[in-house]
Amino acid sequence: MKEYQTKNPFNGEVVNTYTQDSTVDIEEKLKKALAIEASWAAMEIEDRCELLTNVAELLIERKEEYAELMTQEMGKPYSQGISEIEKCAWACDFYAHNAEDLLADEVIETDADESFISNDPLGCILAVMPWNYPFWQVIRFAAPTLTAGNTALLKHAQNVTGCSMAIEKLFLDAGYPEGCFQSLKAGHEEIEKLIANDGIKAVTLTGSEKAGKSIAATAGKNLKKSVLELGGNNACIIWEDADLDQHIDTMVTARMQNTGQSCIAAKRFIVCEEIYDSFLEKFTEKVKSLKSGDPMKKDTFIGVMAREDLAEELQKQVNDSIKKGAKVVLGNMRNEAYFSPTILTNVTAEMPVFKEETFGPVAAITKVKNRKEAIALAANSRLGLGSMLFTEDIDAAMNVISDIPDGAFFINDMVKSDPRLPFGGTKASGYGRELSREGILEFVNKKTVYIK
Ligand code: NDP
Repeated sequence: MKEYQTKNPFNGEVVNTYTQDSTVDIEEKLKKALAIEASWAAMEIEDRCELLTNVAELLIERKEEYAELMTQEMGKPYSQGISEIEKCAWACDFYAHNAEDLLADEVIETDADESFISNDPLGCILAVMPWNYPFWQVIRFAAPTLTAGNTALLKHAQNVTGCSMAIEKLFLDAGYPEGCFQSLKAGHEEIEKLIANDGIKAVTLTGSEKAGKSIAATAGKNLKKSVLELGGNNACIIWEDADLDQHIDTMVTARMQNTGQSCIAAKRFIVCEEIYDSFLEKFTEKVKSLKSGDPMKKDTFIGVMAREDLAEELQKQVNDSIKKGAKVVLGNMRNEAYFSPTILTNVTAEMPVFKEETFGPVAAITKVKNRKEAIALAANSRLGLGSMLFTEDIDAAMNVISDIPDGAFFINDMVKSDPRLPFGGTKASGYGRELSREGILEFVNKKTVYIK
């Protein structure tokens, strides 16, 4: 059977060795999920919510352990790992308190004596998840989906297999019945076979466009619903009246947190010319002050990228953009999986750092003449996860909401996920929504009930 290793991207040390699940192992896990399906769906929602509260408590109890595991497997700075686990606990608490209301029957007046929508679980849902937020990406799917009465199988990114196993154990320790949430150590071909299996009712993927197309094609061929949360190329628009002193830290965090490996990061900075010099000076100064180093140290802000090949790919995007005329103001140094925080100016719409998602600590900056040009350039993207606009002119900002064709538009803050708000993209950023009411209703059968 195929063995693989997980490696610490900071020091190259082997973290662990795993054996991939065989076809038989995967079939066994699916059988277990199907065996528990009916009793789990029939459980009172309050009881499922109570289990979710246990998950929230365990997450807080174990946050140091989980943060360390993420740092070892994918180089996330430890302190950012702690925040990630706390956010997972918040999402669990949110659904533990609100799921009953969110899933309640929706009465609709018709000719019937009574008619309503009943939000029934679908069954076993397959989740394919990435390494960048190894706990958050899984919990934001699992908390609502399990609480709605579904079961789940997780195929996590191979480099974070330890996190995947830890999450499976987390649910078991919280009291979930065996089979309710299981981790797979599966290759891509096994996932394709699994999607085709009648036992799988729907699939969700967070990851690259390439992975999204492949999973969605398999799901489509098998008439299974899919939710896709793919990359982003978020614009950070800075109008001439933006309050830089108040917001510059947010703008830097929006790009550099998680060592730039976030789908909702600000990737394209589009700045009105009147404020450009001042913005560039303040932004550069802040980025210079970010501490790079050993991700296990509590004051490290920039760790290493999750894999060396990802850093190489980023370097290629940067170098190809430089060939097309981009200027390096800061950084552009790589040492294995480390990529130094980088600022590029003179960026145009033809360059890879503008056209493509850059999944690392690289800020691409473009100067524009005015507000209108800024909005048009922001909307000029194949991707549509979110945009942010900094301005003191809220009325004018409200007037451009419909010009931004993305899943989110944040004014005077960075695009961020919040369990209370829907999260997802348009265009090549995918479809469907996670979190909030929208997220919990993605994997339910909205059954029409009509009583006469
Ligand atoms: P991938 O999209 O390849 O990986 C994400 C997940 O999808 C992993 O679990 C991976 O498994 C799985 N996967 C990929 N292809 C298939 C397939 N055909 N069948 C089944 N499972 C599949 O991302 P990468 O790690 O290669 O990162 C490449 C780029 O993707 C990044 O640079 C970034 O631009 C983007 N990305 C976006 C993310 C987001 O949050 N939207 C998150 C991660 C990456 P396995 O690990 O086994 O290959």
